[in-house]
Amino acid sequence: MNAIHAAPYAPANAFSRADGELLINGQKVSRVAAMAGYTPFYAYDRSLIDARVGLLRRLLPAGVQLHYAMKANPMPALVSFMAPRVDGLDVASGGELRIALDAGMAPSRISFAGPGKTAEELRQALAAGVLLNVESSREVELLASLSEESGWPARVAVRINPDFEIRSSGMRMGGGAKPFGVDAEAVPQLLRRIGSLGLAFEGFHIYAGSQNLNADALIDMQRRSFELMLRLASDAPSPPRTLNIGGGFGIPYFPGEQPLELEPVCAALASVVADARMTLPGADLVLELGRYLVGEAGLYICRVLDRKVSRGQIFIVVDGGMHHHLAASGNFGQVIRRNFPVAVANRIDGVANEKVNVVGPLCTPLDVLGDKVDLAEAGPGDLIAVFQSGAYGYSASPTAFLAHPEPAELLV
Ligand SMILES: *Cc1c(COP(=O)(O)O)cnc(C)c1O
Repeated sequence: MNAIHAAPYAPANAFSRADGELLINGQKVSRVAAMAGYTPFYAYDRSLIDARVGLLRRLLPAGVQLHYAMKANPMPALVSFMAPRVDGLDVASGGELRIALDAGMAPSRISFAGPGKTAEELRQALAAGVLLNVESSREVELLASLSEESGWPARVAVRINPDFEIRSSGMRMGGGAKPFGVDAEAVPQLLRRIGSLGLAFEGFHIYAGSQNLNADALIDMQRRSFELMLRLASDAPSPPRTLNIGGGFGIPYFPGEQPLELEPVCAALASVVADARMTLPGADLVLELGRYLVGEAGLYICRVLDRKVSRGQIFIVVDGGMHHHLAASGNFGQVIRRNFPVAVANRIDGVANEKVNVVGPLCTPLDVLGDKVDLAEAGPGDLIAVFQSGAYGYSASPTAFLAHPEPAELLV
């Protein structure tokens, strides 16, 4: 078990260091910055992604397929890197679908979820031959007519809005009234409709929530998702072949948060797999993870432009900020603003003995990357790293706000 606990739980010890610099997959951050050509940039460390996938592969029971939810980070090079390492890709738009296909993932291993799919997106998915997680009766009817029109067979899974809520989730996406999926109580009727339309039914999908660090809550969610699917399977036109029980594995962003304990979650999953073999033979369990695979492998690096003192407080003004990294500025679904881990990347061994505010160049008080954080002394030219930035970074940020240049993105 030693190897597991030594696994790269960022931020403090995931990235190595040499000569006082942070290393990104073995290369000094200053050199990576030169390779990028300019700052700010995002850098994703291939070795850390590999380590994370490897950890899951060791612990997940046989019979569970690991999917990557591209929404977390849709950088084409990263998706291409991920494609041969996972069993499938989950996309949530026609744009993500194109990236998944470009990455060389077999269409049979791509699934498409999300509310409000357009007719064009449904047609795209039909033409490509990917699995559609339908989220309303409108989607089912539209799909049937598009399929008939084109002659391309539709592959359908039903996304269920469960009749339970997940505990401890940073973002709840199932249970109660939700725009996602079909309410569990309405699923039997939809299944009969899918059968009468002659669409190929393949299985179920439940996604109850994101960013969960509580193993017990995840274990409970997985068990209940499976039991709900088992119950609904009796109304299905054919036995389900895929049971996508979601994911929601979180990563620690803030002081006091503990990494998710993976071992008990995977052990409990083994018992779900065993039950599924008995009750729904022929069905594969699918786990779809986004941030857990890539979040800790990513850094956002910006350069210090100015160092100012205002009425006793130090302000480190950097060339990046909320327009590139909305989440780190605290404006992406946080109720109370907390600091992502930050450090002076080119003085990584420096003692963090200054309390400073790290702020971006935007003319708004929202543009904060570090509020009274402890940092080594930094001045113009130094590089600031924001950790835990591999997911919901660039693609989740308002890059047009204030018309600054876009960040670069590197897979190192
Ligand atoms: C957002 C989302 C994910 C990924 O969530 P993470 O928190 O990044 O793991 C997976 N599946 C669905 C359906 C989603 O909407």
